[in-house]
Amino acid sequence: MSAEQEGQNFLASVDRYFEKAAAATDHHEGLLEQIKICNSVYSFRFPIRQGDGYKVVKGWRAEHSHHKLPVKGGIRYSMETSEDEVIALATLMTYKCAIVDVPFGGAKGAIKINPKDFEKDDLESVTRRYTTELIRKNFIGPAIDVPAPDYGTGPREMAWIADTYLAFHSEQIDALGCVTGKSVPQGGIRGRTEATGLGTYFGLKEACSHEDDMKKIGLESGMEGKTFVVQGLGNVGYYAAKFCSEEGGAKLIGVAEYEGSIHKEDGIDLEKLIAFRKETGSIMGFEGATDLPSRESALELECDILIPAALENQITVKNADRIRAKIIGESANGPITANAEAILEEKGIMIIPDVYLNAGGVTVSYFEWLKNLSHVRFGRMGKRFEQGAYDRILNIVESQTGRTLTKEERQTVARGADETDLVYSGLEETMITAYNQIREIRKQNDRVDNLRTAAFVNAIDKVALCYLELGIFP
Ligand code: NAD
Repeated sequence: MSAEQEGQNFLASVDRYFEKAAAATDHHEGLLEQIKICNSVYSFRFPIRQGDGYKVVKGWRAEHSHHKLPVKGGIRYSMETSEDEVIALATLMTYKCAIVDVPFGGAKGAIKINPKDFEKDDLESVTRRYTTELIRKNFIGPAIDVPAPDYGTGPREMAWIADTYLAFHSEQIDALGCVTGKSVPQGGIRGRTEATGLGTYFGLKEACSHEDDMKKIGLESGMEGKTFVVQGLGNVGYYAAKFCSEEGGAKLIGVAEYEGSIHKEDGIDLEKLIAFRKETGSIMGFEGATDLPSRESALELECDILIPAALENQITVKNADRIRAKIIGESANGPITANAEAILEEKGIMIIPDVYLNAGGVTVSYFEWLKNLSHVRFGRMGKRFEQGAYDRILNIVESQTGRTLTKEERQTVARGADETDLVYSGLEETMITAYNQIREIRKQNDRVDNLRTAAFVNAIDKVALCYLELGIFP
């Protein structure tokens, strides 16, 4: 299938989810149409240098919804991208931001290149030229449209984007907020790297905390002791697995990676597995684990939670009826096809949708943007003051009880919050609040049959309210 056809299918499936959720709301047809369509797409071509020659490449920036500004979404460098894919991803960003109350509209950008074919200097030129195109058309700016990394881009590209924007807008005091996902020295924020995996953990933990929901799928409440399998040990999968096991007390019993999959019923030590893979280039042959027949096999292991965190379309009609997890937490985007979802639900599997569960990245990007606008690191003003206040309380406790606290006890309690603490706290609050909003819609609205539809209804309601209150200009 060509990239264009895949993009069309992807957009059609996003629109299908929208239509299903829209039918569970009472909004006016015209309003729903305004929420669904993509407001603007800037599609352009530009020449680039490659080695001694020249090449013309395609670029896009789609701004799906301007109900809140700025709009926000990543930029991907990929040969597999297309205009429809960019629109579909921008659309999902609108819903994702609304679900986690990040006050942005959705956007996405892409350049149709394989970054591996480029020398670093040429890639820098491509990135700066792309940014200049966005500047010329007013498709970037801290109050307008704020890109972030996606496939094929990272903090390095974000620094080039920021620098190019600053070169054109040196008078703008908030110019650094034109892009997120920067490295910390370039104005990025601590906690961004692990944000999506950590958000996945917070979301799963909250889902597992509801006793009545767990009872329905034959599980005890709480994450402690639950078995889980993860697909993909990249940025998202690694941190999701790390927090679920280290913080949540869950047991990692299976891993699927590009080269194959493994199973170990009494638990896989994640850090040892990562070190083993680094050394041998593979997860296969890991001590005490069983190598499974294929890389998809681990998805079919009996477990409490399955976390697909690699790529889209991993659970399809071909393997859906062999999935034995009780909960699937969609950390990746689109790991379950629509037809497979019907089979999984028939089997009583609880699916926690991507549009909610992997929103940790954009949530912390929002914190980075706030940091850039406030020009101060979170925690810088209050940390020592808080510590002093706790110290004074502990002094009173000591004098009242007559017991002197150990240095360790005092350090545990008398500690002011630093940037990482505040980012983690803000992310946890965001994921818990959003989950409960979705869960409530699922429970209260009898036209809503699952958490995905509930998440979309939640997004539609919020965007609709915003449009209604704003009115139409002129
Ligand atoms: P990544 O490239 O860091 O990791 C992906 C991992 O999956 C790699 O380790 C790769 O080897 C593995 N993999 C590839 N094909 C596989 C296969 N067939 N079977 C098993 N493993 C396979 O990417 P990432 O940033 O962790 O993103 C993973 C998913 O999460 C993607 O769907 C992405 O869109 C989504 N996501 C990422 C973020 C983020 O902040 N990084 C935010 C939201 C959603």
